[in-house]
Amino acid sequence: MKAAVVTEFGAPLTVQDIPTPVPGPQQVLVKIQTCGVCHTDIHAAQGDWPAKPTVPFVPGHEGIGIIEGVGSQVSEDRIGERVAIAWLGSACGECDYCVSGWETLCEKQENSGYSIDGAYAEYAVADSRYVTRVPDGISSFDAAPLTCAGVTTYKAVKVGGVVPAQRVAIFGVGGLGHMAVQYARIAGGFVIAVDIEDEKLELARELGADHTVNSMTTDPVEAIRALGGADVAIVLAVIPSVFDQAFRSLRRGGRLVCVSMPAHGVLPIPIFEAVVGGISVLGSIVGTRKDLREVFELHEAGRTKVSAVSRKLDEVNECFDDLLGGRVTARQVFEF
Ligand code: ZN
Ligand code: ZN
Repeated sequence: MKAAVVTEFGAPLTVQDIPTPVPGPQQVLVKIQTCGVCHTDIHAAQGDWPAKPTVPFVPGHEGIGIIEGVGSQVSEDRIGERVAIAWLGSACGECDYCVSGWETLCEKQENSGYSIDGAYAEYAVADSRYVTRVPDGISSFDAAPLTCAGVTTYKAVKVGGVVPAQRVAIFGVGGLGHMAVQYARIAGGFVIAVDIEDEKLELARELGADHTVNSMTTDPVEAIRALGGADVAIVLAVIPSVFDQAFRSLRRGGRLVCVSMPAHGVLPIPIFEAVVGGISVLGSIVGTRKDLREVFELHEAGRTKVSAVSRKLDEVNECFDDLLGGRVTARQVFEF
């Protein structure tokens, strides 16, 4: 099968023929139809984070496809089912986190396209218990970005505790940000979208942002404070200084929700302001299978829109360059 493979950190990916994987007892073999390109895939290919994948590996954790084969312990009834392969490839199912609805914190989790091969390939194997069925009313093209960009920002809005009439600042309107704007609206928030590209801010407005701030020309801290300050600030940009802007844009009692992970990022927090202002700083990592089901349910009901462009797997390195160069308004999706 054809796959895009990371053979060395920091080197271009190579599109090559590798053996089609064979599903283990609890796994399914999925014929991939679409897979979105997430910034995490670039971090993975560059070996940016403290916990690194082992090369060679196949990235991709927004994989959508049809189950074509099953392992010995999986019912054959599942053949033909259309499923999503998300970042949470599997978890132990038994630890305190897993049994309390926080499987995304499981210390024994495997991550698709990181610790196990992902969906930048014609086929992928995945744990039958951790793939999520894609409802019939959603195209495979839309389902791909929902599987990480969607669920991750949906969860971040939940973690931020957004309630109606609160001001939610979204820092970074791209693949994740354009979904975050919509979930913050669904939760009842007034949305302030911040980015450095006018085209992205235009998209945010189309998707329901109440205010937009171009941080190249306007100081976002001043602009947001002029509106009364943000109750919740969600950071999706991978520039460390943006975390500081987001922190300073909060009003008292505000919550800073950190989602993006810049390489070697550190967030110095002024303790006095944090204490006196009753500020919370929260990390939010992807979402659970339940969260993804809800994301699909909302999309099928017409509550969200996905903005994405179609790409071919052979263009993988160009896709990474376009994403890093800020030339992608929202998401890129490989169609097989
Ligand atoms: Zn992702
Ligand atoms: Zn666990």
